[in-house]
Parts: sequence; structure tokens; C-alpha cells
Amino acid sequence: MARMKIAAGNWKMNTNFEEGLQLARDLSNANRPDDVLTLLAVPCTHLKSIIDQTLHVPNLEIAAQNFHHEKNGAYTGETSIGMLSSISAQYALIGHSERREYQRESNELLAQKVKLALEEGITPIFCCGEKLDIRKQGYHLGYVKYQLNEGLFHLSPEEFSKVIIAYEPVWAIGTGETASPQQAQEMHAEMRKSIARQYDQGLADDVSILYGGSVKPKNAKELFSQADVDGGLVGGASLKADSFLEIIHSF
Ligand code: PEP
Repeated sequence: MARMKIAAGNWKMNTNFEEGLQLARDLSNANRPDDVLTLLAVPCTHLKSIIDQTLHVPNLEIAAQNFHHEKNGAYTGETSIGMLSSISAQYALIGHSERREYQRESNELLAQKVKLALEEGITPIFCCGEKLDIRKQGYHLGYVKYQLNEGLFHLSPEEFSKVIIAYEPVWAIGTGETASPQQAQEMHAEMRKSIARQYDQGLADDVSILYGGSVKPKNAKELFSQADVDGGLVGGASLKADSFLEIIHSF
């Protein structure tokens, strides 16, 4: 997959059904740049309706926020990857820090999910990032490279070429604190180096790496102007069409 400019919104557990459909409609109808892919990671209850509603909207795709690591079975309340592909979902977040933290999702389990998604033809948006104590101790670069190693480097080069990555320092998610453009660039460049070492320079150059963590209209432009930052994964500021559109126009 060629490297893309991507503005991805993660709605998390926000919006009721009607509000979600309206937000997707507002974004679909708005003027958006041709060369930026808008991705919306919407709640499970909204998925099919929003996928259907946006089917013919250019440069706008819908993502699931999660799915189970087993293909099917006795897992009450869970959603399988096959269920997602049966409603034509094309993308799924994997390993968001809130799931790593609250659902105790391990690197091993996330590696399994990445494989499942690819087998089902769904593009994984693999999230990684360090907590504050790790950054304070100066281990953040190594820590994120370890997450890549454990979560993605079991893939063949062909499989890896279909993945999108989001670097989201945990200390910046939902906190109002953002990594500086230099901190984001440093991490993204290191990630690319490690991908080049594992695979080759071509794959490292082609993979889209998004930054996430309190991206707002006021800081998006500077973050997205960094050489190795291909866009953003945006939580809070993606819940209002106006602020998300400003971010979409920040490339
Ligand atoms: C996120 O949900 O991945 C995120 C980065 O949230 P926020 O933009 O609100 O920090």
C-alpha cells in the first residue's frame, strides 16, 4: 500500500446512533481535500449503517474500533473479524492503548488480531506508544520498537505492506498534552528505521504512520508537516465535524 495522508477519527464510546449517522453525514457532505483519506473508527452499533451511508463517498472509509482475537465461538458479547468483513468493514483499530490498559490486551494477542484482520482482507491500524514513566526514564524509542517487533514483525513483507501504524504516546491521549512535533518526528523516524531493518527501505518508506495524542486544529498542521508523520489518529477533536474538518485540512 502506498503511503497516504490520513486523518482518522476515533469516536470511542461516544455518540448515540442518530448523532453518529449525522456526524458521518456532515463529514461526507463537507469539502475535503482529494489527497487526504478520512477514516472514521465508529462504535460497533453504528458500523453497518455508516458503511452503507458512506459507500460512494470519495476518500472516506469506516473502521471498526475492535474485534475478538478468536475467529468465532462461545464469546458472549464479542464481535468477530468475520462479522466485520460480512458488513464490508475495510479497516480496524488494533491495540489502542485504552484496550491494552483496560482489557489487558497483550502484544501476543494483538499479533494474533493483526494476522486475523489481514486474512479477512481488513486493514489493521496498529496502535502503539509508551506511557509517561517510560518516556521519563528515556526508554520510549526502544519500548515502541519492541511493540512493533511483538505486534507486527511476525508478518511477511507482503502482509506488512497492508498495515497502517498509529504512534500514540499514552501520556498524550485525552490529556490535552501533545507530543511536540520534534518528539513525534523522532519516534516516527526511529520506527521507520526499525521497519527498514526488519524488512527493507521500500516498505519502511511506504508505510503510513499516524500520530495520535491530543491532535487539535491548532497543532495539527505542525505535526503533519513533519517528514515522517503521515497524519493523525484523533479522539476528542474528531467528535465535532468543524474541528475534525479543520484537522483534515491541515496537511
Ligand atoms: C485516541 O483516541 O486515539 C486519541 C488520540 O484521543 P485524543 O485525540 O482525544 O487524545
